[in-house]
Amino acid sequence: MDSFIPYGRQCIDDDDIQSVVDVLKSDFITTGPMIDRFEEAVAEFSGAKFSVAVSNGTAALHAMMNAAGISEGDEVIAPPMTFAATSNAVIYQGGIPVFADVKADSLLIDPDEVRKKISPKTKAVIAVDYAGQPCDYDALREITDKHGLLLLSDACHSIGSEYKKQKTGSIADMTAFSFHPVKHITTGEGGMLMTNNLEFAQKAKAFRGHGITTDYRQREKLGNWHYDMVSLGYNYRITDFQCALGISQLKKLPNWIKRRQQIAAKYDEAFKDYDKISPLSNSSNVSNAYHLYVIRLSDNLDRGKVFSRLRNSKIGVNVHYIPVHLHPYYREKFGTSEGMCPVAEAAYEKIISIPMFPAMTDADVDRVISTLMEITGET
Ligand SMILES: *Cc1c(COP(=O)(O)O)cnc(C)c1O
Repeated sequence: MDSFIPYGRQCIDDDDIQSVVDVLKSDFITTGPMIDRFEEAVAEFSGAKFSVAVSNGTAALHAMMNAAGISEGDEVIAPPMTFAATSNAVIYQGGIPVFADVKADSLLIDPDEVRKKISPKTKAVIAVDYAGQPCDYDALREITDKHGLLLLSDACHSIGSEYKKQKTGSIADMTAFSFHPVKHITTGEGGMLMTNNLEFAQKAKAFRGHGITTDYRQREKLGNWHYDMVSLGYNYRITDFQCALGISQLKKLPNWIKRRQQIAAKYDEAFKDYDKISPLSNSSNVSNAYHLYVIRLSDNLDRGKVFSRLRNSKIGVNVHYIPVHLHPYYREKFGTSEGMCPVAEAAYEKIISIPMFPAMTDADVDRVISTLMEITGET
């Protein structure tokens, strides 16, 4: 019997486990030195000046919207082809998400649609590097500069990807990463906010810890109990043992991305001349980190049937995503509906994410390809 191939899966080796155990035996298991070290390592990797490690990617997005000063009634333009956390973070701050449709070939936010959605209330644009491919940041920057807006990035899919040779994390004004197990590297749960702006980083650090400006270790050093709570924050801290895992995982990231790109190349080759399956297209000036490998089925294929037959064949497919504006909460609260983002809505009917993770063997990849060909070839 063939074993189940999930659509994504973490890789945890003995050295990862050892690094966690070492921290568990040390003096600090939270708010200790591993936080800074993980932050420095990811900042160095991505070329950003500052980084703030938090409890998950959603917390990084929330801290981002807070640092951006998003408040009651402010509009933030976001794509619908993403996980709901992207636009939920706007709502946490009292802001209003405004959806700009994506481009049909890449499912990345379409700069022309962004332009159409700008109003006097717009404060920022958040791009999502869907599936691992960076958005067209030059085109977006031109728009945000022209209108005095912040350019934000949800790069939960794209750590290690590059746009015109520049690494994700240092391109937008602020960038969020997630370290959920299905993402490129994991800390169990975890996230990080990246920025070159000191003020944003300071705000995010306070936001992570109840809006208090010093942490326990700093006070201990000063031999002082006093602290000031200067803004309303949360407990979005991450633990030291999670950060130790993150540091250990990060060392492997470049090789893992290479492996993801190899797998993608095998898929690309297999579907190149096959009219029933179209992969998303890549821009020539990016390096895609391939969080997901998304295929689009031809019009004559029933996505639901193909999906369940793949699952029955133990191929762990998934669908990313139900366009966010179609969720009942958004419809009720923000009056969104079908027809607002026709490109994303049409794409959603036909897309499937097929297995993509570095530990996949060539035999796994071949099995996914042959099963897909078999299932889609019959109709
Ligand atoms: C995973 C993900 C998030 C949220 O990250 P968590 O760490 O799960 O909170 C946000 N946006 C996108 C696009 C994601 O894929």
